[in-house]
Amino acid sequence: MSKEIWVYAENNQGEVAGVAAELLAKAQELADQMGGYRVAAVITGNENKAAKDLGALGAEKVYSLQHAELADYRCDVYAQSISSLVKEYQPDYFFFGATAIGSELAPTVAGLLKTGLAAHCVDLRFNGERLNCMVPAFGGKVVSEIYIPHARPVMASVRPGILDAGHAKAREAEVIAVDTSYLDGVVSGEEFLGFEENELAANNIETAEVIVSAGRGAASDLAWESINQIADKLGASIAYTRSFMDTGRVPDETSMIGTSGKSVRPNLLINAGISGASQYVCGIGKSKIVISIDKNPRAAVFGYSDYGVVADVDKILPALSDKL
Ligand SMILES: Cc1cc2nc3c(=O)[nH]c(=O)nc-3n(C[C@H](O)[C@H](O)[C@H](O)COP(=O)(O)OP(=O)(O)OC[C@H]3O[C@@H](n4cnc5c(N)ncnc54)[C@H](O)[C@@H]3O)c2cc1C
Repeated sequence: MSKEIWVYAENNQGEVAGVAAELLAKAQELADQMGGYRVAAVITGNENKAAKDLGALGAEKVYSLQHAELADYRCDVYAQSISSLVKEYQPDYFFFGATAIGSELAPTVAGLLKTGLAAHCVDLRFNGERLNCMVPAFGGKVVSEIYIPHARPVMASVRPGILDAGHAKAREAEVIAVDTSYLDGVVSGEEFLGFEENELAANNIETAEVIVSAGRGAASDLAWESINQIADKLGASIAYTRSFMDTGRVPDETSMIGTSGKSVRPNLLINAGISGASQYVCGIGKSKIVISIDKNPRAAVFGYSDYGVVADVDKILPALSDKL
């Protein structure tokens, strides 16, 4: 019997999250490298189409968990259902996206299964038979290798936007409709109230092609207003550093880049008033072209940039906005 590498295909009303494609591509790469493994996606919810689409993303098998109780995400019923499935089929590896949902669901499933989970990984690599889960540590200054020697499945959550999607070979996936009748009459401890669109989430920096990113040096009224104008004119998303967020200009971490924020991969990234701390630059490595503006010619950010502009953002940003 072939062994399996599982990926949790997080989806919102049947729309599969981008991180699921990234994980499936990685799972296929690992399966090819090791031989003898099949890549399977696990999908929860009530959407048949998404289950079929997962083959196009590289899944050879899709375990589809559908039930009225699974129509909307609730951690307790999702975790119970997924852990029962794992007990039945016993995959060796199980990967989740380190999204808001994945960061809650993966450890809950791991807890129920009493197995190990490496959380917020940036890569997964086999070294011989051993899967190393690469996790930034000490605020992103080092990348540690975590491996789980005995417990199975080895579980990992991987940050969205880090792995490359798109290179997986499309497959004709075998869809297995899992019997979920055990959920009939189940009483969840959580009540689903509804979805609310987060205004900041619409400015999705993980998929943005152009990003203007603000640092503490660009927190003046003039710089911030110019950043908004430039973003408007370029059709760009706005991101920021933790220190910028701490100035109170933005309410939360939704569009923050870095170790404890998000990883981005735009075609163009403009950094304004950002020093280039390791905890920030670890989130921009996949950007194609990086332009940084800072008044300090020795700012570390220039070492991570294709073009550097040594200038005062209060002067250059309004001028750039006018020019655009
Ligand atoms: C565990 C841990 C996790 C962290 N996670 C994150 C994270 O996920 N994301 C993150 O961003 N940070 C994170 N940090 C914080 C990080 O270490 C830095 O403090 C932060 O990234 C610095 O943000 P900044 O570059 O905006 O500010 P600063 O480092 O203060 O840099 C401001 C820059 O603006 C320039 N400047 C000032 N005025 C002007 C002007 N008028 N014109 C042009 N340039 C100007 C300065 O020369 C300077 O280079 C983390 C820290 C820790 C300890």
